[in-house]
Formats: sequence, structure tokens, C-alpha cells
Amino acid sequence: MQQKLRIAIQKSGRLYEESVKLLKDCGVDVKNGINKLKTEAENFPLEIYFLRDDDIPQYVEDAVADIGIVGENVVYEKNKKVQIVEELGFGKCRLSVAVGRKEEYSGIAYLQGKRIATTYPVLVKKFLDEKGVQAEIHEISGSVEIAPGIGLADAIVDLVSSGSTLFMNGLKEVEPVLKSQAVLIRNEQLDAGKLKILDRLLFRIRAVKKAKNNKYVLLNAPNDKLQDIIALLPGMKSPTVLPLAEEGWSSVHSVLSENQFWDIIEQLKEAGAQGILVIPIEKMII
Ligand code: ATP
Ligand code: ZN
Repeated sequence: MQQKLRIAIQKSGRLYEESVKLLKDCGVDVKNGINKLKTEAENFPLEIYFLRDDDIPQYVEDAVADIGIVGENVVYEKNKKVQIVEELGFGKCRLSVAVGRKEEYSGIAYLQGKRIATTYPVLVKKFLDEKGVQAEIHEISGSVEIAPGIGLADAIVDLVSSGSTLFMNGLKEVEPVLKSQAVLIRNEQLDAGKLKILDRLLFRIRAVKKAKNNKYVLLNAPNDKLQDIIALLPGMKSPTVLPLAEEGWSSVHSVLSENQFWDIIEQLKEAGAQGILVIPIEKMII
């Protein structure tokens, strides 16, 4: 029987959809697993387990699953023997200290002797120890943001992305503890066969990630401006230049990365480029 790699992903929650989408973008056909514990891909040697995110590091350490997708925050909190193989670029958030909006927060010393509610006691303790602050850590399992309002704590440490949940609960973010995103983790002892499947999957994940961070750009350039315009384009090699039917004009094709994108587009316009088209790239293999 063909060997399979077992991947654990979140059953439902903030990482579920993006995890499934990533696998699908990698050409792995995942039957949606709502209310299912496990499913198999038909076109790739992968078995998918749907679990609570908190349990994923343990399952991967114990080799119940070979690899998993989980937030860095959970990986570090659980502190299991697993390896992080790849950052996945989604599920971005930060673990932060928040206090009542009206509090005057003067700095980390504010937390001395205070009661801090969190679902991340390990990370909070490590953070406070590093800062030399003594505080009482109250571990609670959910709805941390209401703890100050009901008098259970003076401050909280919780995950934040936009900050709107904090705002709705009369809190403000005052101190970052950890930045986090979803990562791919693996068991430390995978046999050669499994490693080979992991390599195939990683190759695809990297191609999908690269594509997401890049755009394909087509533009028209008057030939007398062509050199200036080409000089602005990084491209994978040099850009492709094709003559247009209209005399004296060329079409230029290139790839731009997301973080330099708007800057370069503005400069291209100024340099005389016209009819600029920007197209998403599905996979990028270089
Ligand atoms: P489960 O039922 O699987 O235990 P959960 O309620 O613990 O789910 P979610 O709220 O679905 O977890 O969050 C899963 C992960 O999504 C977090 O551990 C974190 O890595 C990431 N995440 C990204 N943005 C946020 C955010 N704004 N708030 C909370 N988690 C976020
Ligand atoms: Zn959880």
C-alpha cells in the first residue's frame, strides 16, 4: 500500500478555511471535513485530520499526525518537541497586553503586582520573567477580554488582530508579547518515505506562497522610453518585451513583488508606461 503523510489542521475556527485553501491551492483535493475527524486526499498521499488547534502540537509530537498547521502562539505555548518547517503567511495576529482604556499605562512596571488573565500562561510567565516583573497570572480558558470588566483581572494578555474586540470591551492594547502566524510543524522523526512526501508538499506550498506575494504586470511603453521603464522592473530574469501592432510601441511583461508593487507602478506611470494590467499569479516556480 502507498505510504501516506498525515496532516493535522484545525477542525473549525480561524485557521480552518485558510488551511484547507492552502492544501487546495497545492492541488490536494480535500473533501470538506465539517463534522469529520479525518479525510483522505485522492490525488496526493495525504491524510487530513481535523482537530482542535490546541491539541495539534501534542499529536505531532506523539506521531499521531506527522505534520500540522497551527499558530506559532500555540506552538510556543505548548512547548512540545516539534519542528517548525515553514511560515505560512496567514493567521497573522499578535499576543498583547491590554488594560482598561482609561488606565494610565506607564510601561511594563505597571503590571507589577497586578492580576493578569490569559489563555497563554506559559508565554505570559516567560514574558514577565524576561522583563523582571512579578504579577499574578490567572489562566482562563476563553473570553479573556471580559475579565477586567467583571473584576477578575487588572490586565489581560490575549490575541489581537484589528483590536476591535478589545475596543468593544473597553480595553486598549499596550504592549506586544509575541507576533504570530500560522506555521507548518513536523514530527522530529519522519522516515524517508514520509520526508519525501513532505518535500513534495513543501515545494508546492512555497510555489503558492511566492505566487501570492507577486503580481504579473503587463504594460505598454513607447520605444523611446523603453530603457527607462525596463530599468524600473526587477523581474524574475529580464522582462519580456514584445512589439505592439502600433508602430513605435512595445508591450512589457514582468513580475513584481507585493511589497514594492505600488512604488514601482507609480514610477512606471511617471516614466511613460500606459495601459498597465496587473494579474494575480496562481503558482510560481523558480
Ligand atoms: P479551537 O476550537 O480549535 O481550540 P480556538 O478558539 O482556540 O479554536 P481560534 O480563535 O479559531 O482558536 O484561533 C486559532 C488561531 O488563529 C489562533 O491560535 C491564532 O494563531 C490565530 N489568530 C489569528 N488572528 C486571531 C485573532 N484576532 N484572535 C485570535 N486568534 C487569531
Ligand atoms: Zn484553541
